[in-house]
Amino acid sequence: MSRVAYVNGRYVRHAEAAVHIEDRGYQFADGVYEVCEIWNGRIVDARRHLDRLERSLSELSIRMPMGRAALEMILREVVRRNLVHDGLVYIQVTRGVARRDHVFPSADTPPALVVTARSARPEVAEKAAEAGVGVISVPENRWDRVDIKTVGLLPNVLAKQKAKESGAKEAWFIDRDGFVTEGGSTNAWIVTKDNVLVTRPADHGILKGITRQVVLDMVEKKGLAFEERPFTLEEAKEAKEAFITAASTLVMPVVSLDGKPVGNGHPGEMSRDLRAGFHEMAESEPV
Ligand code: PLP
Repeated sequence: MSRVAYVNGRYVRHAEAAVHIEDRGYQFADGVYEVCEIWNGRIVDARRHLDRLERSLSELSIRMPMGRAALEMILREVVRRNLVHDGLVYIQVTRGVARRDHVFPSADTPPALVVTARSARPEVAEKAAEAGVGVISVPENRWDRVDIKTVGLLPNVLAKQKAKESGAKEAWFIDRDGFVTEGGSTNAWIVTKDNVLVTRPADHGILKGITRQVVLDMVEKKGLAFEERPFTLEEAKEAKEAFITAASTLVMPVVSLDGKPVGNGHPGEMSRDLRAGFHEMAESEPV
């Protein structure tokens, strides 16, 4: 079976899918995206991801490319056509195609929409979660509107490449005051020695993760001790546990920070429990 992508109104073979060279996403990173998990034939938290897509677009004065129901239908169709039972669906909207000029094109320029989906093997992710992942720290060097999920991800790309070259999976950005903001593609959490879960408030220093929100719902339901406040790299290094969250990794235990073990160097109990309970708490609908 060959993969299929949706590109500006057409379902096309993935291998031949292309956008125009003057797409503003390509020229200026003038666009936004979303990634939803597909789990067990279900699309996870589509409502909240599409809410965030609408917010990101609105912050940048880009129109929704179509109504919400039509967009949802396309997501489902792309997942179905690619026979994805477990994996990810990716949505990208840019300000459209126009002669290269920094200022916005005329208001009648249609936004460009691409939707792709790909399969993943849940057993591979579970194996990774059983082992846990390493994280390195890097200086925060992104713009101050990282609450908008834009395709402008160069600092994230460089940070994650540095992590990979150090044998780690993720890089945590550290702001000027020594506080952890978030990872290159994940939100950051720690569990203190007193079993208090800590994550940074979703102010403009981080992307307000949907997975983060589901974990917060679990925290409330389970009545876990929790503080929404910034934490420093030093505090993280002394923590009992740490983990990262994203639709692409769910709750992923962190077992080392800058090469030093976190806690006992193995995935912590709270991280494992939150991972195990995730899909029960998240919203999901059959594709
Ligand atoms: N932070 C950044 C920078 C991200 O890119 C992502 C996801 O891609 C997240 C956090 C986690 O967000 P979500 O849980 O909605 O996937």
